[in-house]
Amino acid sequence: MGLRFLFLIISIIAIWLIVRHQFAKRQQKINPKNYKDNTDLFDNMVECHYCSVHIPRKEAFFQNEHYYCSLEHADNDKSDL
Ligand SMILES: [Zn+2]
Repeated sequence: MGLRFLFLIISIIAIWLIVRHQFAKRQQKINPKNYKDNTDLFDNMVECHYCSVHIPRKEAFFQNEHYYCSLEHADNDKSDL
């Protein structure tokens, strides 16, 4: 009886350690990915075709095969053509 109870306690501790280890491994996998996304944001800088201001590609407006910092500049550049 006593030995069976001891085995149960050891099993629970072993499972808890495995789960905690798997969770820590998953956290480590997520963190470098977030860091990579941040560097991608700074690497993908584009120049506004109208005023030459540099802005992140994610925030830029793409029109007529050119990037613009705002819709206003995209429309102004189109009127020049
Ligand atoms: Zn602009």
